[in-house]
Amino acid sequence: MIPVLMPTYNRADLAFERGEGAWLWTADQRRFLDFGSGIATSSIGHAHPHLVRAIAEQAGRVMHVSNLYRIPEAERLAARLVETSFADSVFFCNSGAEANEGMIKAVRKYHAETGHPERYRVICFEGAFHGRTLAMLAATGNEKYLAGFGPPVDGFDHVPFGNMNAVRAAITPQTAGILIEPIQGEGGVRPASLQFLRDLRAACDEYGLLLALDEVQSGMGRSGRLWAHQWAGIEPDVMSSAKGIGGGFPLGAILAKERVAQYLKPGTHGSTFGGNPLACAAGNAVLDVILAPGFLERVDRVARHLWRGLEALAQRHPAVVEGVQGAGLLLGLKLKPEVGNTDMQAAAAAEGLLTVAAGMNVLRLAPPLIITEAEADEALRLLDRACRRAAPQAARDAAQ
Ligand SMILES: *Cc1c(COP(=O)(O)O)cnc(C)c1O
Repeated sequence: MIPVLMPTYNRADLAFERGEGAWLWTADQRRFLDFGSGIATSSIGHAHPHLVRAIAEQAGRVMHVSNLYRIPEAERLAARLVETSFADSVFFCNSGAEANEGMIKAVRKYHAETGHPERYRVICFEGAFHGRTLAMLAATGNEKYLAGFGPPVDGFDHVPFGNMNAVRAAITPQTAGILIEPIQGEGGVRPASLQFLRDLRAACDEYGLLLALDEVQSGMGRSGRLWAHQWAGIEPDVMSSAKGIGGGFPLGAILAKERVAQYLKPGTHGSTFGGNPLACAAGNAVLDVILAPGFLERVDRVARHLWRGLEALAQRHPAVVEGVQGAGLLLGLKLKPEVGNTDMQAAAAAEGLLTVAAGMNVLRLAPPLIITEAEADEALRLLDRACRRAAPQAARDAAQ
């Protein structure tokens, strides 16, 4: 019989009853160190008192009114996002895929309104992940995800990640923009080089294209800067955010320059839930924590500490780990082909460490941004044991 929850996920047989900071407990009191953060989403950890209080207080006042009215919590959150980013204006929605959909609509609308309706195509990258809606499946371009869902939505051209010659060759008179994750998450925790991001910006300027960044996973402090593209010293024209922005409460956003945002007039785009008082109270509480003086510097420091530990781990377990990749607190262990990342994920969970598999046989580490160096060390200790668990299996497989 089919499960009452549609079987769209291979769920681990674990159910958590409560959490605190970077830790989760099952009902039978088994404790896990959460280096997955619900897929890079519980950005300030579990049950953060400030976030809990903000949500409870807002829920007790007013939760939802619709965008037919002014929403002071949304205005405040938008103003703070504008103040701390390249953007002039923000649209709130509820998920990453929805933010990306709106972002691509904004890109197309810009060209339609500036006399180039023929410019609707967007250059995307191999290994990308942009979400599960019909258009974002096409932007993702992964055959595995597209299969069985009819003709892919038209308008997305894929080139190899990091290949500037391929990008330039793919630009046609129909190209509207370039869509890229500064750090590919699902695809295998691959950061774009900072120079590549700068070259994309330059190509967009040269050809009149819009640079659209998907910072759903890389943004909101995960890289050690508020937005990952800030490491490259560039500004996009439009950007999506979700995952960590609500600290676990569903919230997404499109941030845009005025020259793009001005065409999303009443009736062009919308969302019933988007930016409701409760979601924005959560967003504001998360920002309070992440923008606190010294917070991002601390993320950067812990991230570098974790990176060094992972490098040492890779040295100790060459039969299991091929290398370390990623940026900030979005890190990946690239595993040897003989060690499957889902097996390694299970081995880590068996040791009490939660991680997330990513593409290209990478084990992804995306802890809450509030972790301490001691928690990073604990994760390294558990990973070391997980590697030992996985190693004999690898040796056996290699011998076959
Ligand atoms: C998770 C993710 C998405 C999709 O977000 P949803 O909230 O699941 O729709 C899009 N882009 C990137 C980079 C992501 O990591």
